[in-house]
Amino acid sequence: MKRERLDKILSNLGYGTRKEVKMMVKDGLVEVNGKVVKDSSIHVDPQEDEILVDGEKVFYREFIYLMLNKPKGVITATYDDVEKTVLDLIEDEYKVFSPSPVGRLDKDTEGLLILTNDGELNHFLLSPKRHVPKKYYAKVLGRVTEDDVKKFKKGVVLDDGYRTLPSELEILVSGEVSEIELVIYEGKYHQVKRMFEAVGKKVIYLKRIEFGPLKLDENLELGEYRELTDEEVELLR
Ligand code: URA
Repeated sequence: MKRERLDKILSNLGYGTRKEVKMMVKDGLVEVNGKVVKDSSIHVDPQEDEILVDGEKVFYREFIYLMLNKPKGVITATYDDVEKTVLDLIEDEYKVFSPSPVGRLDKDTEGLLILTNDGELNHFLLSPKRHVPKKYYAKVLGRVTEDDVKKFKKGVVLDDGYRTLPSELEILVSGEVSEIELVIYEGKYHQVKRMFEAVGKKVIYLKRIEFGPLKLDENLELGEYRELTDEEVELLR
């Protein structure tokens, strides 16, 4: 881990503004490797050096990985002037790490969204070459049939002429309102909605239930999130 200024590290971890941290250091509240330091501009390695604030060990990590059960009505962005974003659902304790969403869910789509500040992993998971599977549950206006299953398996042509990769459609309920699960291996704009439009149907409810090897944690209510376990992070790599 790179050495960083002490005030920057503590401020990023939510101990206060740079100015507040500087005062805390001046007041003798901060120890590095057993010694009180008075200069907040010193460079330390937050993983190697032991930092105490007010006698409490500072728990530092470089990366955080969150699983959010995204509700409807929030946009998948880190900031917006008008709309509520997924970052508005994240508490400061995690927000200080500046996590970004991995991919995008529409404003009216619910379900599994990963957020991380690990840019390399984010990039890796979104790479079009990797074809990370994404599983959705949807309610669809119109009777979804075995014919649609075959069409989705072959690939359907979207409104812009793009032919989708083979996908796996499973019919749970076929009726005036059908219920389905769909696994896709790419992530075009509004992909699931446009795939159903291509076969003359309309998605009226959409929820992502799996992303790669991860399943949406059933204990998470809409709008709730939790950290991924180390094992889950390893599965993603
Ligand atoms: N496909 C869509 O149409 N919308 C989403 O949010 C995700 C996949």
